[in-house]
Amino acid sequence: MKYIGAHVSISGGVANAPLNAQAIGANGFAMFTKNQQQWHAAPLAEEQIAEFKENCRKLNFPPESILPHDSYLINLGQPTAEGLEKSRKAFIGELERCHQLGLIYLNFHPGAHLKEISEEECLARIAESINIAHQEVPEVIAVIENTAGQGSNVGYRFEHLATIIEQVKDQKRVGVCLDTCHTFAGGYDLRTAEDCGKTFAEFDRVVGFKWLRGMHLNDSKSTFDSHVDRHNSLGKGNLGEAVFNYIMKDKRFDGIPLVLETIEPELWPEEIKWLRSLEKN
Ligand SMILES: [Zn+2]
Ligand SMILES: [Zn+2]
Repeated sequence: MKYIGAHVSISGGVANAPLNAQAIGANGFAMFTKNQQQWHAAPLAEEQIAEFKENCRKLNFPPESILPHDSYLINLGQPTAEGLEKSRKAFIGELERCHQLGLIYLNFHPGAHLKEISEEECLARIAESINIAHQEVPEVIAVIENTAGQGSNVGYRFEHLATIIEQVKDQKRVGVCLDTCHTFAGGYDLRTAEDCGKTFAEFDRVVGFKWLRGMHLNDSKSTFDSHVDRHNSLGKGNLGEAVFNYIMKDKRFDGIPLVLETIEPELWPEEIKWLRSLEKN
């Protein structure tokens, strides 16, 4: 079974996320657990937590169908000690919120070296950040997202993801999320079924499907290997339809959240319907 959904709003409170997901015909979703443009957030109130869990239960969203995303401000590979400390603290807070909500994943962008340290050093810092966070918060799995490699972001090569995973001590609590737009903009082609076969075989060889805990399904406004992160609605960008057809028919993408972060939320119900139709045909 495939969990298909979108990154839905938490406006009015986290308990609204499952309601918003149901309203678009989703059986999985992504969400922030706080205002993602701010470092700090008020702790989740007991009633909010209870209401969130109750809504997920009632509407049939098990924890493995939900892929919470952390704040974009966080950079776990920060070159400066002060900045790194701030990011690590915020990341631990994000993991705590997921844990409180009964969620099992936290999806995050690995980090950026800001041209002050090497990629290797940046990747090592990210792994160390995960190790530190693991000691502070139990259970939640840190899900590293591949990037388009925009600016000085690491994570655009599958090797980067593998390097981080290798340095994580508690390997039961690390995973990866592949974003189709980032993959393509990062230099792995996905425009035809043959390209998809090659790219996912390369992913399996370098990282391994056993680490895959989620996908972001986005078409791409950016061009191949451009290292520019610009999403588009499905079928309207430079990726086209083949990759979504490929994913929907492939069992290796079962049982994990498949999340739209496409740019026209009013199309999400249609996009979800279309994805489901590909699964069957
Ligand atoms: Zn993404
Ligand atoms: Zn993106």
